[in-house]
Amino acid sequence: MKPTPLHAANPGPYTGDGNWTYLIPGERPVLIDAGVGNAAHLDAIGAAAPAGPAEVIVTHAHSDHASGAPAIRGRWPAAGLTKMPWPERDGDVPWQSLADGDTVMTDSGSLEVLHTPGHSPDHIALWHAESRTVFVGDLLQLGTTVFIPASSGGSLSEYLASLERLRQLSPVRAWPAHGPVIEDPMALIHYYLDHRRLREEQVLAALADGLATVEAITDRIYTNLAQALLPMARESVLAHLVKLEGESKARGAEALWVLRR
Ligand SMILES: [Zn+2]
Repeated sequence: MKPTPLHAANPGPYTGDGNWTYLIPGERPVLIDAGVGNAAHLDAIGAAAPAGPAEVIVTHAHSDHASGAPAIRGRWPAAGLTKMPWPERDGDVPWQSLADGDTVMTDSGSLEVLHTPGHSPDHIALWHAESRTVFVGDLLQLGTTVFIPASSGGSLSEYLASLERLRQLSPVRAWPAHGPVIEDPMALIHYYLDHRRLREEQVLAALADGLATVEAITDRIYTNLAQALLPMARESVLAHLVKLEGESKARGAEALWVLRR
């Protein structure tokens, strides 16, 4: 598997340097993720696949991955647009549905669709068994942890289960939507699992000390945080609280949280 990385040319506060999309070249070119429809990205797709992609697979509905699909279809009307459905977010794009276990044919071999929810409910990764490599969208990113938007479709429990599922496949390389290629995905997955365990202990300790709001718990755990990052940190704390509630270890009512013993 030797995909051509094509940058979506969309740097910004939420995308960092911007998104990577990946073209698997051949008779049936397949593009993974659609970017945002930036002209430079469309030109790069055209340079790598002059007749356009036969299929554009979108890892999830977040706009930095999906919103460029209509522009790609506008330039190459035969391009199929596929993703796992998330009806609230999919808009009126004529998506074809992908489901867990589906197979996508490419000239470099077949890709298996893995439903990997958590960062979003519709998130998928694409597994190339032959080379044990995987396209991970927003499941993994070097240099940071992945944001779990607890109030808008994110679930930490699901995310951890998705990491565990990937771990069991023992991937040797991962192509993420943000940041450089991940040459040791297993090390990153183990780091993520450890990091979340540590955070959970911190949240449990804060609850045990009587801190009852997302705001107070966030202030305790995330010291020296830039003001602009506070909303994301609070969402992360909320993601932990919702997970603990699901495990009957905490209980929340009217934005006040307590330990459950
Ligand atoms: Zn995302």
